[in-house]
Amino acid sequence: MTDPLAWIDAGAASWRRRGLERKLVPSERGAASTIIRNDRALINLGSNDYLNLAGDPRIVAAARGSLAKGWGSGASALVSGWSLEHETLANEIAAFEETEAAVLYPTGYAANVGAITALVGRGDVIYSDALNHASLIDGARLSGATVRKYAHGDASVLEHKIRSDKKSGEYRRGLIVTDGVFSMDGNLAPLERIVELAEEHELMLLVDEAHGTGVIGENGRGAAEYLGVSERIPIKVGTLSKALGSVGGFVAGSRTLIDWLINHSRPLVFSTAAPAATAAAASAALRVVIGEPERRAQLASLANRMRVRFEEIGVAVSEGITPIIPVVLGDPDVTMRIAESLTKAGFYVPAIRPPTVPDGTSRLRISVSSGLDAETIDRFIIAFKVAQS
Ligand SMILES: *Cc1c(COP(=O)(O)O)cnc(C)c1O
Repeated sequence: MTDPLAWIDAGAASWRRRGLERKLVPSERGAASTIIRNDRALINLGSNDYLNLAGDPRIVAAARGSLAKGWGSGASALVSGWSLEHETLANEIAAFEETEAAVLYPTGYAANVGAITALVGRGDVIYSDALNHASLIDGARLSGATVRKYAHGDASVLEHKIRSDKKSGEYRRGLIVTDGVFSMDGNLAPLERIVELAEEHELMLLVDEAHGTGVIGENGRGAAEYLGVSERIPIKVGTLSKALGSVGGFVAGSRTLIDWLINHSRPLVFSTAAPAATAAAASAALRVVIGEPERRAQLASLANRMRVRFEEIGVAVSEGITPIIPVVLGDPDVTMRIAESLTKAGFYVPAIRPPTVPDGTSRLRISVSSGLDAETIDRFIIAFKVAQS
């Protein structure tokens, strides 16, 4: 008798040969922007905790305060899992985003899947940027709608597809979905043009601000605010797990939209609500985002310093204003080797390989946090130069 799972051995061996095997490494938060991995403290350049809030005493205290009442929420939001902390946070997010309402999901992934599948189905069409996050792609697939992928960041290709579909009159409803800040490249979607297209062609528009919320825009409302179109995004998705230092996801928009999601969004209906303490922590973090804009300024200044220093040593990194700085090296083995040398020098930088990024674009994905300082960035650049040679 052969083991029905034996096929995995062959699949795993081929994955390993291609240099794509990954392993879980337990990491613990250390002092001052470090993580402890394999008993070593490393400067952490691989976290989405952009504002250094995940370990902030105020956020931890908010979680602890809520924890005094217990941990698990015990049921889905619609049954009895929606706490006062969830309700408060949802109202605070709606106010922050200047929308009528908001609702929370257990993760940002669930928010994207939940929103898309509740809004479109068979007979509808989704326009999706080629480099969208996996949760947008998975939501689109699961919805059953026809997915029309457009070249990354290319609004003219998008327009062409919209016009040709309109002519054929094939689809009932349409939805455009895009990251605001692209997670592996750190660039922004051309939202000014996308908003115009959505308005002109009466399409729904969902923008995922997972890496924008709290990070860019004058008030930290993300790419849409930075590009001056925040109030024209009807479906705003964000996560509590990056700059807000907690866990969970949200959708913000009109009262009608949010009530529809509460009734029809399967991850919300069929998954247990996150513990109230996660919402209490995110509320405390949101207050810091609003009250301490200097953190965003510090973050922008450090990210800029990193880009300038890379330029000085002749390493091409994409221009941009976000704290995500990819160094695209192409080959997965080369990428791993440089990441390992950097680890030896005391820096943790994640090597990102397919399938997270397209084949041939393996990269180091550096993410800067406001908790770092200029001197550490300069030291990192020296270490990078050595690792590369
Ligand atoms: C991280 C991420 C998500 C998922 O958010 P989680 O809260 O981690 O589930 C969604 N979209 C984008 C663009 C992301 O980078």
